[in-house]
Amino acid sequence: MAVYCEICGSEIKREIHLIRVNSSELRVCKSCAKYGEVKKVLEKNQLAHSAARSPASSPQISPSDDKKTTKIYEQMLQDLNEEEDEDFGRRVKEARERKGWKQEELAQKIHEKQSIIRKIETGDIIPTKELREKLQRVLNI
Ligand SMILES: [Zn+2]
Repeated sequence: MAVYCEICGSEIKREIHLIRVNSSELRVCKSCAKYGEVKKVLEKNQLAHSAARSPASSPQISPSDDKKTTKIYEQMLQDLNEEEDEDFGRRVKEARERKGWKQEELAQKIHEKQSIIRKIETGDIIPTKELREKLQRVLNI
């Protein structure tokens, strides 16, 4: 693997100087190392070794990334469940029936159409936060 100096362009035979120039890092030859702050001096074969290893090391990184992603995903699902609550319709229906109200009566109490109540109870629609709060209030759920 040939490595070329990023300043003068000549091939680096042995020692690769990793230098910082302004905010960028450059791999340069020994004679160009004076142009920046030397961060690291690598043997060329050492670099080749680490370069060859990096594709293999990425799967080592991804499990932790996956774990992190999974955690975020789980959190998202949890939030989603809290937000949408699949059981909400069933709870509305149960609470309404406990009170002995018809869907129409419940609809009147919250100034909505009966069809809306029916759809909420069957889970056809997910009520808005406002509607949910109204239902929760009148049904004490
Ligand atoms: Zn150079």
